[in-house]
Amino acid sequence: MAQYAREAVQQGIVSLNHRSRGFMDIVKETLRLLHEKLEIPADYHIAFISSATEGWEIVAQSLTVATSLHPYGGAFGKKWMEYAHRIKPMIEPGLADVLCVVQNETSNGTQVQMETLAEFRRDFNGLIAVDAVSSLGGIVLDWALADVWIASVQKCLGLPAGFGLFIYSPAALKKAEIIGDRQYYNSLLFIHENMEKYQTQYTPNGLGIYLLMRVLQQVPPIEEVDKVIKQRAEEWYEFFTSPDAAGRGMHLLIQNPAHRSDTVIAVEGQAEGIATIKAAALEQGITLGNGYGDWKNTTFRIANFPAIEEDEIAILKDFLRTNGL
Ligand SMILES: *Cc1c(COP(=O)(O)O)cnc(C)c1O
Repeated sequence: MAQYAREAVQQGIVSLNHRSRGFMDIVKETLRLLHEKLEIPADYHIAFISSATEGWEIVAQSLTVATSLHPYGGAFGKKWMEYAHRIKPMIEPGLADVLCVVQNETSNGTQVQMETLAEFRRDFNGLIAVDAVSSLGGIVLDWALADVWIASVQKCLGLPAGFGLFIYSPAALKKAEIIGDRQYYNSLLFIHENMEKYQTQYTPNGLGIYLLMRVLQQVPPIEEVDKVIKQRAEEWYEFFTSPDAAGRGMHLLIQNPAHRSDTVIAVEGQAEGIATIKAAALEQGITLGNGYGDWKNTTFRIANFPAIEEDEIAILKDFLRTNGL
């Protein structure tokens, strides 16, 4: 990453005008690589946005007629609902024309399986928007099961924050055209018209786009990444379901294996013990992910993201074997 950033500075990429030919070529190649490496269908469009949170707003502003439904099980899902309903208030659930689902709920380490998304697809008559911020780039997603996929690059893609992806189907574009929202700088139609020219309607995070391109050039196809991530997740879950872990006061926050995330492992314990182990970890140069929202003091979270190396996992496991709560 440092090497790619250096390269971007040395080659003057960070100072390229974003409407210049050189910059547009980088955008074009990054889009091509996203389609190729993540196996995004050729007819799905990809736009660069500033964050996943912005993506939530785009869904509410440009793709929702009446209101949106938000079946959620954690803090990010709740936050999305609150933002969306400020823009398109919930008047009557039966009128909802968009279903908004957080595929991987980073706050508590749960995930919505593709089978469940397939049921939503079958039963819901409208657009489906999925927040895949902490799973996109880590596991295989069945793109056809939703019309919008939202991600940020700082989770599974392992890049510096401040840049997001908005992936949308032909049906989503068609609906945006029918709604015709052109009220905001980030109305989807403006975004789309600019991305068609490999541009953005505002000055984009050029360094972020370049880093994404360079990272995508060297990542394996998503099927391979998916296998590694799922194998590591299984090993983490075995690690925490062992009597040994229970003896040290740690257990998994999510009891039902079918609901457990592949990319975020949430471990629960007594608040005091959690605070102690986090402090002990810091002393050894290991940062254990804080709990989030309702689980702030009684959990820690382990990121199972592709950029994490085997030896880092081994060090963390050794630490957890020798430290109780
Ligand atoms: C991190 C995260 C977000 C927020 O992403 P930003 O890039 O900060 O907007 C949204 N949803 C989920 C599930 C997340 O993990």
